[in-house]
Amino acid sequence: MPSDACKAARALVASAHRITVLTGAGVSTDSGIPDFRGPDGLWTRDADAGKAASLDAYLADPELRRLAWRTRLDSPVWTAKPNAAHKALVELERSGRLRTVVTQNIDGLHQKAGSDPHRVLELHGTLHATVCLACGATGPMRDALKRVADGEAEPDCARCGGILKSATISFGQELDAEVLRRARLAALDCDVLLVAGTSLSVQPAAGLVPLAARAGAEVIICNAEPTPYDSLAAVVLHEPVGEVLPDLSSVPPSGGGRF
Ligand code: NAD
Repeated sequence: MPSDACKAARALVASAHRITVLTGAGVSTDSGIPDFRGPDGLWTRDADAGKAASLDAYLADPELRRLAWRTRLDSPVWTAKPNAAHKALVELERSGRLRTVVTQNIDGLHQKAGSDPHRVLELHGTLHATVCLACGATGPMRDALKRVADGEAEPDCARCGGILKSATISFGQELDAEVLRRARLAALDCDVLLVAGTSLSVQPAAGLVPLAARAGAEVIICNAEPTPYDSLAAVVLHEPVGEVLPDLSSVPPSGGGRF
């Protein structure tokens, strides 16, 4: 028996013409990639783990960089498969109502599931590429990881010898201005903002929620735990995204699918 909150969310999705989705690490936990702040999150289990995620620490500490490269070889991201939540968003896109997926995730699973890469905005970058912190050259992560697997403790930039990092946004690093601009536009230009699997504790990503709400969008938040923005939402669902998103994506459009 669907709850009243589920029914309300289904009604909002049915009448929506322009849906923007904001996702976080919680949409990928069913794919075997742990989140940071959920009950089994990496930072919940080890409070010091988050310190390594700052750009200053990465630049200052060669041992930290070597550890990051060693650990990355075994990241679950390389073998992870998209789950029901990612696939549901592909279905919603195919129904013509989902315009943009803004994701804080760096795992590339929305694209792997079949979301149009042009509609996916990776606010925090991607783990599938590297960037040189000296000259800005980018390259495939797999090339750097092959060098690590072949015995290099810390692969440097093939062009200038500078320090290489994954093309992800660390604490202390600016977001890509163009990606953030497009994400804000997508929040402003939607009738429903569907938020899934994020604690909404990282800015400026979380700020997309009040931005959309102030612009008149109905906000649906689906997250296992409460978020600081629940009071702005028309509907809050504390249920698994792997169940809620397939349910919402199966809702037929009402009103003839007007755009
Ligand atoms: P977070 O860890 O702060 O929050 C994730 C939230 O999802 C938690 O509140 C948790 O309770 C909830 N959750 C977990 N599994 C769920 C499920 N199956 N159904 C419903 N809710 C579920 O993550 P965040 O808000 O995305 O912010 C953390 C930062 O961590 C982001 O910047 C992101 O770049 C990075 N990150 C990314 C990945 C990834 O790419 N998969 C993984 C870990 C962290």
